[in-house]
Amino acid sequence: MGLTAKIADTSEPNLAVSIRDVNKWYGHHHALKSVSLDVEAGRRVVVCGPSGSGKSTLIRCINGLEEFQKGDIVVDGVPLRPDMKGVEKVRENAGMVFQQFNLFPHLTVLDNCTLAPMLVKKVPKAAAQETAMRFLEKVRIPEQAGKFPGQLSGGQQQRVAIARALCMMPKIMLFDEPTSALDPEMVNEVLDTMIELAREGMTMVCVTHEMGFARKVADSIVFMDAGAISFAGTPQQFFENNDNARVRDFIGKINHA
Ligand code: ADP
Repeated sequence: MGLTAKIADTSEPNLAVSIRDVNKWYGHHHALKSVSLDVEAGRRVVVCGPSGSGKSTLIRCINGLEEFQKGDIVVDGVPLRPDMKGVEKVRENAGMVFQQFNLFPHLTVLDNCTLAPMLVKKVPKAAAQETAMRFLEKVRIPEQAGKFPGQLSGGQQQRVAIARALCMMPKIMLFDEPTSALDPEMVNEVLDTMIELAREGMTMVCVTHEMGFARKVADSIVFMDAGAISFAGTPQQFFENNDNARVRDFIGKINHA
């Protein structure tokens, strides 16, 4: 009995995120219908699907920005129950990048990056600033450290948002349509930053319609439809000979957008 349990333990994959039978309602609207998804550490998952299919709701549930009514979510070993116990710990481990950047407009780029480490993790100011500059260099905008978000382009603001999330030393990065609000010429600078993160082995869950990025970076693609996962597989399985009519329709529309 004990031996069986041990074997089972050691063969368990190292799960960064485990989502089991999660159900979420907004009032009467059943937004997530028994969604289950495992993300192993170091993996990149792209979540796509038509508008209103529940992608954003799902990713927001992973770091407790949305409550869910049924099911289990475990992020890096920390259970996030429907009652939201564990949410602070989960947010420390899971960095989030939003469509609309969500930077604090009244704080400089540097202060945006140091606020949470100082406040939540009690990192001393000098050390927080040193870390922030390291990540601003990584996203290639250290020279903007003293500026305010409003003085930056959308692409630069989103790279600050990525640096800000990285300053918390997260184990997982969550992206909710990070390029959707950007002018087309700025999309690649943000995608390139994300590709670099992926190459370094960061665990990533990205809601995006950027299918070039998905092809290049994703280990698996999850397709959501009407609040449920209707397909999950490798990019190759997703793009080639997919017998899921909704996926084929979606790819066709994206390609002709
Ligand atoms: P997606 O990210 O795939 O576009 P969402 O997760 O944003 O989809 O939304 C899924 C469904 O839940 C949609 O029908 C949307 O209208 C609804 N919804 C999202 N947020 C709310 C909310 N705060 N209140 C009520 N309904 C919502």
